[in-house]
Amino acid sequence: LPVLRLQNISRTFGSGRIVAVDDLSLDVYPGEIVSILGPSGCGKTTTMRLIAGLDEPTGGDIEVFGKSVNGQPPHRRNIGLVFQSLAIFPHMSVHKNVAFGLRMKGVERRTIDQKVEEVLDLVHLPAAEYGARMPSQLSGGQLQRVALARTLATEPSLVLFDEPMAALDRRLRDYMAVELRSIQKSLNVAAVYVTHDQETASAMSDRIVIMEAGKVVQVGTPEEVYERPGNRFVATFLGDMNFLEAGSVGVWSDGSRTVHIADGSLVVADEISGRREGGSVMVRPEHVELMTLEPNGPGLSGRISETQFSSGFYRSRICLSDGQEVLTRSTENTAVVCGVGAKIWLKIKQGRARML
Ligand code: ADP
Ligand code: MG
Repeated sequence: LPVLRLQNISRTFGSGRIVAVDDLSLDVYPGEIVSILGPSGCGKTTTMRLIAGLDEPTGGDIEVFGKSVNGQPPHRRNIGLVFQSLAIFPHMSVHKNVAFGLRMKGVERRTIDQKVEEVLDLVHLPAAEYGARMPSQLSGGQLQRVALARTLATEPSLVLFDEPMAALDRRLRDYMAVELRSIQKSLNVAAVYVTHDQETASAMSDRIVIMEAGKVVQVGTPEEVYERPGNRFVATFLGDMNFLEAGSVGVWSDGSRTVHIADGSLVVADEISGRREGGSVMVRPEHVELMTLEPNGPGLSGRISETQFSSGFYRSRICLSDGQEVLTRSTENTAVVCGVGAKIWLKIKQGRARML
């Protein structure tokens, strides 16, 4: 039984002119963390507000543990929220902030103190050291942890995160993503994490839901959506992608000669079933190998037009004989061996090219 089931939910604004969420369906299972990934304005926050009960859908059904929650106010849904505006009370100590939700529920003092201690330990802000501190005495990452502790203290059946780390710098964000995932796994609480950052989504989630213009365009594990994107939008949103135009059915031309896609090392047979006249072949830059010698098997030739070094990888721009451009990403600097402008050959790693 899913913790959360969204069944064809929609939300329009401006008497139907603005479609923020468009017929969206999604199941989230116990213990799972699912990211909703998409560009700004695609409907992520609206979806979260609908799940939380801060807003009602104009169509469709929302179920928590198999029961419809349509029309139920937020506090009746047992869903925790961590949004970007952390809503930490500045005049309250860490302890008071974390205890807030439990006090509102009328939980007794001793139980509250115990619970606060437990969740502060969990987020690595031990109560003995941090409980009495005021929010102004904490770093951005620590405030993030307080917000998480406050939400977890109420033992929600589902936690919603809406870009809570967008204000943190890259390194802290990566670190917190891994930590948040490990806390989520240790509690085995289901979570939905909204972000426009594909690296955070990949580091964090069991499954990624990719949204575009209010609709779900693809759902899969981080590897699935990266390696087997369903369309051009998903492919480019998740990273650099080469699109090579196939000249005719199953045949690829680089100007000086034609290469049969079905020919072993270029594309494996099961991946060319979708081939058609004038289709595109897509391949990630790290799956293109550069060779300084002409290969025996099929290969495409071109010239290196530019190489840059960044974060351990050489990124080269290759100009194929027919004018098409290919990006490559490798730990080896081929340009040093053969020089910029020299003729090189490209080989796509086995099974790594796909017909679009
Ligand atoms: P995201 O969180 O992915 O950036 P939002 O869910 O905030 O996207 O917004 C989705 C779309 O719905 C946007 O075009 C936004 O302008 C519109 N929208 C959101 N809330 C409202 C509202 N209260 N009134 C009118 N339009 C809205
Ligand atoms: Mg948003």
